[in-house]
Amino acid sequence: MKIIVLGAPGVGKGTVAAMLSKKYGLPHISTGDIFKDAIRNETTLGLKVRSIVETGQLVPDEITNEIIRERLEKPDVKNGFFLDGYPRTIEQANAMDTFAKPDLALNFSADRNIIIERLSGRRVCTKCGAIYHIRNNPPKKSGTCDNCLGKLIMRKDDSEAVIINRLDVYERQTKPLIGFYRKKGLLAEINSGYQMNEMEKIIKQCDDAIARVKNG
Ligand SMILES: [Zn+2]
Repeated sequence: MKIIVLGAPGVGKGTVAAMLSKKYGLPHISTGDIFKDAIRNETTLGLKVRSIVETGQLVPDEITNEIIRERLEKPDVKNGFFLDGYPRTIEQANAMDTFAKPDLALNFSADRNIIIERLSGRRVCTKCGAIYHIRNNPPKKSGTCDNCLGKLIMRKDDSEAVIINRLDVYERQTKPLIGFYRKKGLLAEINSGYQMNEMEKIIKQCDDAIARVKNG
């Protein structure tokens, strides 16, 4: 089953998609990870992408479509996938219909204040990349990674001004997708405004939506 996950940054869709991926045995493909790899390896694409994402803007459709198409041609996704971070525009959604038509779109939503609180509390290890949260998942020693004793920092992407910009960009560019998939009868609304210890409430909504598609 080909499943896409929609929702603003910080809405929790990445975490949930990773859990669903394990549960259903389908790969979790995050465009964020693909971009991060390219940036870290300083490929031609990576250098181009870096300046764009640092200011909270979206990567141009023609670059993104090409990366995703290549990824979805690999053999590990022949039974389906959870795709996170794509499509983000109607143009991308139309492109995707030509090479991997989705069966279901899970649309995650949560209150804007919850999202800002989640994202601005995030800290990342400069050495091993482990992710913490000052309230939901704090390190044992403030500012220090539990795994490798590396220094924890706030990513540039997670400062409040950049977060608000990212949410505005999302509303403007990605929200039309909700109508696009609703019209096709593929949309399932998922309320993800729960605390970390209530994750099963979010998973249950996704399970129900997947079961509805399976049972036709
Ligand atoms: Zn570390």
